Amino acid sequence: MSDSSLLPDDLNDDSDSQHERYSALKTYISEDIRKLALILIIAGFIGLGINYFILCICLGLIVFFALQLRSLYLVNQWISQHSNEPPPDLSGVWGALLFNVYRAQRRERTMQAEMVGLIDRAQSSLMALEEAVVLVDEQHYLEWWNPAAERLLGLKFGDRKRPVQTIMRNPEFIKYFNHVNDFPDGLVIESSLAAGRYTQIKITRFGYDSRLLVAYDVTRIRKLEQMRKDFVDNVSHELRTPLTVLSGYLETLYENDEMPQRWRRAFDQMQQQTRRMNALVNDLLLLSRLESESLQSKNQIIDMAELMNQLFDDAQGYNTEYGHTLNLNLESHNDLIGSDMELASAFGNLITNAIKYTPPHGTVTISWQDRGEEAIFSVQDTGIGINSLHLPRLTERFYRVDSGRSRETGGTGLGLAIVKHVLAQHDAYLEVESKEQLGSIFRAVFPKHRLHPPENPSDHLMDGE
Ligand code: ADP
Repeated sequence: MSDSSLLPDDLNDDSDSQHERYSALKTYISEDIRKLALILIIAGFIGLGINYFILCICLGLIVFFALQLRSLYLVNQWISQHSNEPPPDLSGVWGALLFNVYRAQRRERTMQAEMVGLIDRAQSSLMALEEAVVLVDEQHYLEWWNPAAERLLGLKFGDRKRPVQTIMRNPEFIKYFNHVNDFPDGLVIESSLAAGRYTQIKITRFGYDSRLLVAYDVTRIRKLEQMRKDFVDNVSHELRTPLTVLSGYLETLYENDEMPQRWRRAFDQMQQQTRRMNALVNDLLLLSRLESESLQSKNQIIDMAELMNQLFDDAQGYNTEYGHTLNLNLESHNDLIGSDMELASAFGNLITNAIKYTPPHGTVTISWQDRGEEAIFSVQDTGIGINSLHLPRLTERFYRVDSGRSRETGGTGLGLAIVKHVLAQHDAYLEVESKEQLGSIFRAVFPKHRLHPPENPSDHLMDGE
């Protein structure tokens, strides 16, 4: 039975006129005044008839107050005991009061019913989800979860109101749970329920400090990704031996004095192409190694003054055919914490790019500087520059602004992808600023926790050209 059917007819009509009638103070006060006047007139007539006018008027007033007290009693009775039922049919101020209270209550109940319906629907759709949904309260206690959370994360009925970190103990998960903002892509963890199964977890903070955790099974995607990596890895490995044999023979034949002159050009090109293939295979292998290596192992202290000088020497060697002016600008006192091989390879990529994408006799400046709490390795050139349209995709594998030019210069299209990976593994990121025909500046930005301040800063400061 709906609420409205419980109402007396006049209360059932929730129209504006009804509302006005009851909310206009004047109307319902006048009803009471009419009642009082009627009682006093009757009492007056009776008083005049029996010659006790004042006494009858007083009795009339007493009757009126008694009626008011009765109404008050009924109102109180209804509010305290039967407020779910329609209110007693009272006139005047009390009737209006009851009507307004009853109407407000009815609205509240309708809204409550709607909310409960909505919550029920939301809850049943969450229950039907394949993805696990878990609500964690401000004290980090498990509050609610759907059946998928039991399947994927192993939560049990008895875990309710227990701290999430005592139930899900994976150290990576705990780190993620406590520092949600440090993991913009969420976290993939191996399932504690079944070996070889992986779960992607995404945590969203809401309210004061509550958390909504969504998790889903990514085992299939992981397997496909692993297959892709293994395939690239295997192909690269398999290509290595034939390439070594080919380049070995090409070199021997090329150096042979009996080689006819007309074949020299063909051999030259064959050597160039095998070198490119070699570079490609090496870059692919490096990328796949970077993808599979753990992040923790990168904690050598790298002497930046030494590394920068070594990079500068290599750059000078590579620069001979371009004739650029090379500058070395060593301003920061900090050393880096990471893998020297990987960082040298990433920095080297940025330097060779600057040299090869700058028309002869340009300027390339290699710098190591501080920026607030961060430190920046940068390479600035006066080269061909890059249209801003290309910047967002620059670090994708095989993405080239001008593929003809990249091939001509022996590029593999993997250099910046390697740079991005190496930097990510060192909690660093790449910033690129470029203007076509004016030049580019590539900056590798390292956070404070990757920097190692030297014991004696003056020993490390060096400027060179
Ligand atoms: P590649 O082996 O082709 O150089 P990279 O991944 O190192 O591949 O670079 C991707 C593309 O970015 C290059 O093909 C080139 O078009 C562009 N690029 C990289 N560095 C520079 C630079 N310093 N100036 C202009 N273009 C650059």
